[in-house]
Amino acid sequence: MNSNALLATLICPNPTCQHQQSVMMPTTFCQLSYTCEACSMTHAHKRGDCCVFCSYADKPCPSMQGEDACCPSVLSDEEIFLMQG
Ligand SMILES: [Zn+2]
Repeated sequence: MNSNALLATLICPNPTCQHQQSVMMPTTFCQLSYTCEACSMTHAHKRGDCCVFCSYADKPCPSMQGEDACCPSVLSDEEIFLMQG
């Protein structure tokens, strides 16, 4: 995956703002909220989406683009236990 695939544009869901900012998406964890640099509101991901990029960005997050299972944060307790082992 090239680095361009990790550059997403987050679009502020605040209807009076809708500011767009370019953000590099993390690949090692899911970003569950972000703070708009224009209106300073913090936006959590939508219910059912795995992260703010799936909810508000112009492209889905890396884990949704790839064939890997979704984000580490949604692994079951058993899988987390295996990773720690
Ligand atoms: Zn905003």
